[in-house]
Amino acid sequence: MKIDGSAGLYIHIPFCKTKCPYCDFYSITCHDSLTGYPDLLIGEMEMYRERFSSFDTIYLGGGTPSLIGGEVLTRILEKVRSSFHIPERTEITVEVNPDDVGPTLLDAWRRAGVNRISLGIQSFDDRHLEFLGRRHDGSSSVAAIGMVSDTGFENLGIDLIFGFHGQTMDDWRDALEKAAGLRPSHISCYQMTIEKGTPMGRMLKEGSITSPGEDIQHDMFVLASEFLISRGYLHYEVSNFALGEKNISRHNSRYWNHTPYLGLGPSAHSFDGRSRWWNHRDLDLYSSMILDGELPVEGREDLSEDQLRLERLYFGFRTLRGNDFGDIQSGKNGGELLEKLIAGALVTVENGRAIPTIRGMLFADRLPVMVVSGTLSLDQ
Ligand code: SF4
Repeated sequence: MKIDGSAGLYIHIPFCKTKCPYCDFYSITCHDSLTGYPDLLIGEMEMYRERFSSFDTIYLGGGTPSLIGGEVLTRILEKVRSSFHIPERTEITVEVNPDDVGPTLLDAWRRAGVNRISLGIQSFDDRHLEFLGRRHDGSSSVAAIGMVSDTGFENLGIDLIFGFHGQTMDDWRDALEKAAGLRPSHISCYQMTIEKGTPMGRMLKEGSITSPGEDIQHDMFVLASEFLISRGYLHYEVSNFALGEKNISRHNSRYWNHTPYLGLGPSAHSFDGRSRWWNHRDLDLYSSMILDGELPVEGREDLSEDQLRLERLYFGFRTLRGNDFGDIQSGKNGGELLEKLIAGALVTVENGRAIPTIRGMLFADRLPVMVVSGTLSLDQ
């Protein structure tokens, strides 16, 4: 299906210096193929020229995109610009590890057209950073934020993690205080989820670490929301806060608004409005398929109307966009359900849309299924 209009472009850089023990993203620590990697991305890009014509958000994620230097990034972006229409005000984000930041690199990225930096801070506490297996410390996080601002980037996002072994409510409050005090234009607060196949998953299974439990994680979520709102941030998506609407992540909003995006690189996902497809999580296989002129796609899913509705509801309950009344009312017991959502303080009503409250966002993952099945239980 050919995409009319602009889509989002995600470029996966699957290299990390070390592997964090909780991480389930596809990345490798051997960098032998880093030099040849841009050519593979360019090869994959070429194969999509017929289907995608324009991108107005570009996001380099990983892995650790800051491992590729300014020259390589410039080359990739030049190829994107010569292959597709890239409007002038396109949001171009690079995910950066605080340890990799330096004025020369930041300046090179800025000249290449990057206008948004996403810093993987995770915590300002050295004990927690060590537990999380991060290679930076709290002071280098603060220094990195200063350097990004000094280089002229006005749009700076930082990521924090909460709800992990050993972190108390006071620790989390301190992290939020520190983050808000540094005034980044965007803060993402991700709740720790430990995947089974990761080293931390094994530690959890063996009992050498514990998870603080759902109640404490919920309290931490509510604390983040109330605290950051009190400091002027807009809580516009379950995990995301922006200093005003102009700083909302336009690229990530594509995922939540259910609009098309193309993902390049191993493990990257794409969506054209009806179908979703994803690439192999294996750089060698990805590489050999590209060199053979084949799309490195591992799987594809054509979404039915019901699946599209469920996803729309899911994203709607996660964001301040909310859900259209019609979408909720059209299902089984729809009218009654909407009343229960309002009575249970899970949504508020604005311009014919049901907008999730903080409590609604807490249950955002469960509400769509309840709405579709017509059995909302407010005790959950
Ligand atoms: S730096 Fe990011 S992508 Fe790399 S291992 Fe750590 S969490 Fe995963």
